Amino acid sequence: MLLFGLFGNPVSHSISPRLHNATFQALNLDGCCYGRFPIIEPSTLFSTFHTLHLEGANVTVPHKEVAFEGCDEVRGIARNIGAVNTLVREGTRVIGYNTDAEGFYQSIASFGTLNNALILGAGGTAKAIAMILKEKGVDTTILNRSLQRLSFFEENGFTCKTWDSFTCKAYDLIINTTSAGLKDEELPCPKELLHTLLSQARYAFDVIYNQQTPFLKSAHAHHLTCKDGKEMLLYQAVLAFNLFFGNRFDAKKIESVMRPIFEL
Ligand code: NDP
Repeated sequence: MLLFGLFGNPVSHSISPRLHNATFQALNLDGCCYGRFPIIEPSTLFSTFHTLHLEGANVTVPHKEVAFEGCDEVRGIARNIGAVNTLVREGTRVIGYNTDAEGFYQSIASFGTLNNALILGAGGTAKAIAMILKEKGVDTTILNRSLQRLSFFEENGFTCKTWDSFTCKAYDLIINTTSAGLKDEELPCPKELLHTLLSQARYAFDVIYNQQTPFLKSAHAHHLTCKDGKEMLLYQAVLAFNLFFGNRFDAKKIESVMRPIFEL
């Protein structure tokens, strides 16, 4: 039996077990099983991984930074982001990766070439998206409600603004990474500012999935090409699954199993 799992708090809502268990079955990986493991106390994350003899795990809110700190080795873009969402056992060592960043980038492939982008919000998801856009040569600005979380982005060379210090200009892509609209009807920035931004943009992306947020409704009203966070979630899962198995499977095959579960 090879055991895999999801670490987070909460994890009860997650579709990750469905995604991964369906893919084990489709690839005839008998004896593989994926479960949800709520981690209440962050200091127990790695002891849980070892006690359960997991082969791999996904890490979600609020433990991605703790996972980054505790890995034996962090590889790829996760080193620049400072957050890990995928853990893979290699012998006695635990290797950390971040597939949110590449998952986001794959999900906007249909947008084509982008010159610049504006990220609304400065939390963990914004870090992953900002670092992959930087890696891909997209000129990226960060706009956040408050100053405190902008220091990471300033240190990494991004143009950073708060609502007060921001002067509008045209961006190809506007990305909402805030939780505004997740459980309320709020916009991620003041209404007038958003209107001006959307009226000059070509594309809008919201990391929130499974619902039409006020941000996406406004973007649709401005006739932008829009996308929510579903495909980002799909691609991060495809990438994580393949990391669990040393990237030996065809990503398209994994995607073909997982995509219908998202009803995409
Ligand atoms: P964080 O808590 O790390 O960051 C939240 C950010 O949102 C902060 O910059 C905060 O600003 C801002 N914010 C919160 N509320 C408001 C508001 N009402 N108006 C304006 N700004 C606001 O969140 P995460 O980065 O961890 O997660 C953000 C979202 O991303 C969640 O909705 C989550 O579900 C989604 N997500 C989607 C994924 C996918 O695959 N599609 C993957 C991971 C996350 P301030 O600094 O001023 O407080």
